[in-house]
Amino acid sequence: SVFDTLAAMGHEQVLLCADEPAGYRAIIAIHSTTLGPALGGTRLLGYASDEEALVDALRLSRGMTYKNALAGMHVGGGKAVILRSGAEPLDRERLFRAHGRFIERLGGRFITGEDVGTTPADMELIRRETRHVKGLAGEGGDPSPWTARGVLRAIQAGARHRWGSDELAGRTVALQGCGSVGGRLAAELHRLGARLLVADVDPDRARHVAAELGATVVPPGAIASVQADIFAPCALGGVLDDRAVQELRAEIVAGAANNQLLEPRHGDALAARGVLYVPDVVANAGGVLSGGADLFGWTRAEVHRRVQAIYDTVLRVLEMAASEGVSPQLAAERLAEARLRERAAAG
Ligand code: NAD
Repeated sequence: SVFDTLAAMGHEQVLLCADEPAGYRAIIAIHSTTLGPALGGTRLLGYASDEEALVDALRLSRGMTYKNALAGMHVGGGKAVILRSGAEPLDRERLFRAHGRFIERLGGRFITGEDVGTTPADMELIRRETRHVKGLAGEGGDPSPWTARGVLRAIQAGARHRWGSDELAGRTVALQGCGSVGGRLAAELHRLGARLLVADVDPDRARHVAAELGATVVPPGAIASVQADIFAPCALGGVLDDRAVQELRAEIVAGAANNQLLEPRHGDALAARGVLYVPDVVANAGGVLSGGADLFGWTRAEVHRRVQAIYDTVLRVLEMAASEGVSPQLAAERLAEARLRERAAAG
């Protein structure tokens, strides 16, 4: 039942929201406010069914709780999904203002921002109804450089755990996706002397990185199984499936993409094959941390310090996984849950 699912996943509150004249149907999932108001984006997507949308909202909001807790942010986890119907064109003003009114009624328990299918202009529309929104046009700036820096720190920590040294000079990195994060990560890795194999479904992007950094272009279908020391998924979620886990030749997987494991069992399968997986929930927290500038008034130096510290969190998670005999993904979740329990106990 829905209630069993909620209980199993630990959600505090899930709202089904509708404003039919506005063409608005949405789910706002508040997973946890233990560490602070639930922070999470609003996505606008077409779903095959209402159940699929609900599962997405539940899974993503819990992921935000873990990501924020592991990043040391004093915010909780939430997510909103607006169900995109077939009706076109969308009246975005009515849609997002309706969404803003629902958020306003939550009185600050949920703070939203941009996500898949939404833009800074949509956030401005939400802002007309509530101040509990971030990521307005001209605010904050692009999180990608911070995400790329955090992923680099995660790779270095993985290397330290695996090979006893952060040194990446001479290591080969297979990079999937040369977009906002992947492109910058490639430049950072090149600067540290790593050899790069790159792939992108947009061949121009891969060629651009190759030309700038002397990387070798690999067909997108082959990047997860090329001979490399490190595989860095920076494109899509769900890339670590049965086939990828079997064919992977890298010793470390660390990248920016969200939800890289298709299912939790793939984390165990990687561990069984002796591949060190750095959980994305820790590795890609740079973007979330950069939001601390708007949320808490952190200086650039403070954001930098916290993004650099992703290294320490990764090491801690990997050490926990090794000592408790569990996958790094499970260790990361346990560490996040321990932080939530500590906070709850402190009142
Ligand atoms: P992006 O859209 O700028 O780049 C993604 C790139 O991957 C594009 O160049 C695209 O052509 C390529 N791509 C798509 N499918 C591919 C495939 N099958 N094989 C190879 N390349 C493929 O996105 P981004 O902002 O760089 O984010 C990359 C990933 O990191 C996403 O999963 C995103 O959710 C995640 N992430 C990003 C941030 C951030 O700050 N931008 C923060 C946290 C997580």
